[in-house]
Amino acid sequence: MRISIIGIEDERFNRQMQLIANLFFEESEIIMAEQSDADVQIKFTLQVKNLIAVSAELKDQNGEVHVANYQKELNGSLMEKEQFKQIKHAVAHVYLTVLQDWTGMIQKWGILTGVRPTKLLHRKVQQGIPLKEAHQQLKEDYLISDEKIELMQHIVDRQLAVVPDLYSLKKEVSIYIGIPFCPTKCAYCTFPAYAINGRQGSVNSFLGGLHYEMRKVGAWLKEKGVKITTVYYGGGTPTSITAEEMDMLYEEMYTSFPDVENIREITVEAGRPDTITPEKLEVLKKWNIDRISINPQSYTQETLKAIGRHHTVTETIEKYHMARKMGMNNINMDLIIGLPGEGLEEFTHSLMESKKLMPESLTVHTLSFKRASEMTKNKEKYKVAPRQEVEKMMELAEKWTKDHGYVPYYLYRQKNILGNLENVGYSFPNQESIYNIMIMEEQQTIIGLGCGAASKFIDPVSGKITHFANPKDPKSYNDNFEAYTQDKLDILDELFSEKNSPA
Ligand code: SF4
Repeated sequence: MRISIIGIEDERFNRQMQLIANLFFEESEIIMAEQSDADVQIKFTLQVKNLIAVSAELKDQNGEVHVANYQKELNGSLMEKEQFKQIKHAVAHVYLTVLQDWTGMIQKWGILTGVRPTKLLHRKVQQGIPLKEAHQQLKEDYLISDEKIELMQHIVDRQLAVVPDLYSLKKEVSIYIGIPFCPTKCAYCTFPAYAINGRQGSVNSFLGGLHYEMRKVGAWLKEKGVKITTVYYGGGTPTSITAEEMDMLYEEMYTSFPDVENIREITVEAGRPDTITPEKLEVLKKWNIDRISINPQSYTQETLKAIGRHHTVTETIEKYHMARKMGMNNINMDLIIGLPGEGLEEFTHSLMESKKLMPESLTVHTLSFKRASEMTKNKEKYKVAPRQEVEKMMELAEKWTKDHGYVPYYLYRQKNILGNLENVGYSFPNQESIYNIMIMEEQQTIIGLGCGAASKFIDPVSGKITHFANPKDPKSYNDNFEAYTQDKLDILDELFSEKNSPA
């Protein structure tokens, strides 16, 4: 689909134009100029005074025409950057409207293309805007559907029930620990995950670096009296290292981190069932880690084979029971909607199998075609369900979880996600993962340690976010972990200095 855009010269609009077009078309090209042979032309007129007045006129090759107008008061007291944001929203508003009218496709998330829609509602709650008014704003300013606003509200309510002090956790931090190894690499994966076989040397050096980071950061937290809210071991698959290595790692955590007994939650992704053994479960129990993730993704064997997961459905079920028997009392399981070759039938089957296990939480992802994955590079090899079917699967997930006592408690969206849908974490009430809430709502700093670990530093006063990423591959990490640790400590020093301490 080639879209010619007329009347908008400022390059700062380009990205938004492309992102919104992507909601409608799998492949689209935006031309920011008049182009007579484009599939469709959209002509904008924009006037900015006290009011932002914008209109869009869409004309296709058959002469079909759609027009949309929108006006909004410009808040003159805002900084230039914020004012421009308002203008961008107004342009997006008419752009989305004409594309919806022309295609007949309704975007339930309206003009939102970002990852964390619930943040928007949290911000309004924090500003003290009454809920009814906040919902009205989401509907009018962003064109979000009632259905999605209701979902956002459910999620915000749940999050505040589980973490009542969510808005004042800026003084604490959470920790993410990235272990970049997996038994094999899955086809849809873009995480830092290296097949572990034959890499013991690299694993040893990596763990050496990770222990160093934990010691240094732990010492800093102790010295400054900064508490840890949650710890999350992800990757890769953190249970792909040996039971002894896991044991030493958790011992390091208890020795180096402050007040580990009072950390609200420690989670270990045991994502791949083929990595779980009784010895490793013993180690988790020994260190009081009882929240783990065992991820089936699908309960159809052919699918697992097609996406390169190299474990069996039976293995998932067996390992789940083993973990349960050995005292794991908060288990999350991930499912993915829209895996290659899967439709409603296979997804229904996955839900039926989930019913036999009833994990405390179930995270339902919608497949996204990430640029770097093997699946995206060979798209023709992996046939996925059409948009309507993907939507039906999502609806089924919503209904099924509700009928079985689960509540949605976090959500995020991704670019190139099938059907412009979302990933939703469901759980039994009071079994929600606090770390997931922290990572989504960006209310506190998350310090990333290990390979591919992304740190997100949130200024406790201004809320400004600074990103910092450790290298993804073990070799670069092993060569430079000391420097990366120091860089993070410098940022922490700046953020948690006395002048910056929140009231
Ligand atoms: S188990 Fe997870 S991290 Fe590992 S390769 Fe598969 S998707 Fe990636």
